[in-house]
Amino acid sequence: MEFRVSELEREPLDFDLSLKAGTIDFGEEAEQVGNLATSGRAEVIHEHRGPKEIVPDIRLKGRYSGRFQVPCARCIEPVEIPLAADFDLIFRPVGADADAPERSITASETEIGYYQRDSVLLEDVLREQVLLSLPVRTLCKPNCKGLCPSCGANRNLQPCSCDEGKGDPRWEALTGLRGRIKS
Ligand SMILES: [Zn+2]
Ligand SMILES: [Zn+2]
Repeated sequence: MEFRVSELEREPLDFDLSLKAGTIDFGEEAEQVGNLATSGRAEVIHEHRGPKEIVPDIRLKGRYSGRFQVPCARCIEPVEIPLAADFDLIFRPVGADADAPERSITASETEIGYYQRDSVLLEDVLREQVLLSLPVRTLCKPNCKGLCPSCGANRNLQPCSCDEGKGDPRWEALTGLRGRIKS
């Protein structure tokens, strides 16, 4: 969904959407599961800078909620997590702050972005918001055993024998026993 300045100048636009998985490409960091719900309002805010300069900002205020699969930080098995957040964003025309990088406007919680040409794509905004709110580290369970660094086996599923056998006196005893049985 595209929010155009020229259209928003006429009137604000309310949206309430349910986006199918695959509509937004979240890359390898996360995969959307089921629909992503999003609603809110887009409007133009005229930022007055001095007597003549008026900057048309797009303000996007809303929320999203959905479920995502992310890889476990230890065993890389997919873990499903719910994500939901509010956003309140201001997009200025690219270049509007070129000569005045530290202008401050509006509410303190508002984040500033920039739009190209004359529009903002909701899908781009949601991709960024979702990726920003992903947990830094997700585990499939608190005591996930992870992958064996030697053979790559998922140690939650079955213990591999990479660490065993060497230097473990119990194994040596068993091996000796086997030897004696054979002979
Ligand atoms: Zn895991
Ligand atoms: Zn192993």
